[in-house]
Amino acid sequence: MSTKKAPHRLYLNENEIPTRWYNLRADMKEQPDPMLLPNGVPAKEEDIYPVFCKQLAHQELDGETRWIDIPDEVLEVYKVYRPSPLCRAYNLEKALDTPAKIYYKFEGNNTSGSHKLNSAIAQAYYAKDEGLRGLTTETGAGQWGTALSEAAAYFGLELIVYMVKVSYNQKPFRKAIMETFDAKVIASPSDTTNVGRAILAADADDGGSLGTAISEAVEVAVTTEGYRYVLGSVLNQVLLHQSVIGLEAALALEKLDEYPDIIIGCAGGGSNLGGLIAPFMRDKILGKADPRIVAVEPASCPSFTRGKYAYDFCDTGKTTPLAKMYTLGSGFKPSANHAGGLRYHGMSPILSKLYHDGYMEAVAAEQTAVFEAAKQFAKLETILPAPESAHAIRAAADEALRCKETGEAKTILFGLTGTGYFDMTAYSQYNEGTMTDRIPTDEELAASLEGLPKNL
Ligand SMILES: *Cc1c(COP(=O)(O)O)cnc(C)c1O
Repeated sequence: MSTKKAPHRLYLNENEIPTRWYNLRADMKEQPDPMLLPNGVPAKEEDIYPVFCKQLAHQELDGETRWIDIPDEVLEVYKVYRPSPLCRAYNLEKALDTPAKIYYKFEGNNTSGSHKLNSAIAQAYYAKDEGLRGLTTETGAGQWGTALSEAAAYFGLELIVYMVKVSYNQKPFRKAIMETFDAKVIASPSDTTNVGRAILAADADDGGSLGTAISEAVEVAVTTEGYRYVLGSVLNQVLLHQSVIGLEAALALEKLDEYPDIIIGCAGGGSNLGGLIAPFMRDKILGKADPRIVAVEPASCPSFTRGKYAYDFCDTGKTTPLAKMYTLGSGFKPSANHAGGLRYHGMSPILSKLYHDGYMEAVAAEQTAVFEAAKQFAKLETILPAPESAHAIRAAADEALRCKETGEAKTILFGLTGTGYFDMTAYSQYNEGTMTDRIPTDEELAASLEGLPKNL
């Protein structure tokens, strides 16, 4: 146990930012099941070139290379907003009256207000390096679209963002930021694609989903010269880029002679969690340490805790390759009253495999309990958390309260992925007592899972 007194915020030096990404797959005892083409054959690199730029297609399928050099051009941008601080939540510990030590890695210190910039910069760089003209993507809550807008503008690429319609209407300023970085933002479903037109023909009031926005963005990428598609979560390449979070956290904790007993992260598609846990999961797999690793998802979109481990499409239009993952079915639509992100039907294949093999746990949190934790945290630690991040706060506080009962002084590390300044409609609902929890019934989930591809 550490005898050092941790500062409230520990910043590494600029020269301690990782210069290599860590590829957790290289140390996994068993690889995640391969990505499949719609005909059931495992995808090869060339197969996905129409969608992803070449270097990223390579990273996506590379389960072997343990360390991958971060290009200098990417590192130059990382240095503008990294390293991110490792914070000790002294005030929260005191308020909870817990013997536990609570650390969090804060990734909200850039305009996207999230960890998403770590991968956006990398993906935009590789596209530029390949001589491409532009990119398409989707965004839900808006952080990914913002991060990619920043990255595309930096590297001089055009960008078209399909933004889930409910969130487009709820968060006009997200759109304004993306446009400030010269991105073109379109509410999805839209009449600009075949997929979008078909969905609108079936239901003109469809509020959209990440799955639908992905279908639209992919369609435009593969039909526009010089364009490729990029995704901000779920994919192996994104977890790879996000490993900078975990590598920095591990180094900072080492400086404090600390090692986490419990590591907690919110899980939408799994990218921040996959990045945060990467070096600790390596220790666990190699038998060097045995931390508990906990994913926290919304009860309204419970892929890990109530989904099925199966091959599924990554989009609603069923146009993408298939991934073996915990999924609620590609047609699943979380209720519109669920605030913030974490609304994706599937989960990172890497994390799905690790969860399936018993290396990690998952819990689901209800929205009002999440906002209760968010508000307490904001008052004590001065950061207004993103609703997504607040799922991790909820679980960390619950673990700390358990420590209070047992008297154990555990070391808890959680990922504070971002800030919630664009989620004030949800905060207002919570403050006014009008927030509700809409949890899907077993029948609704069964109906959605009915649509899973058969015979795979
Ligand atoms: C996107 C996002 C998440 C969830 O995405 P993951 O890929 O699961 O990490 C969590 N927090 C914030 C702030 C986000 O922007």
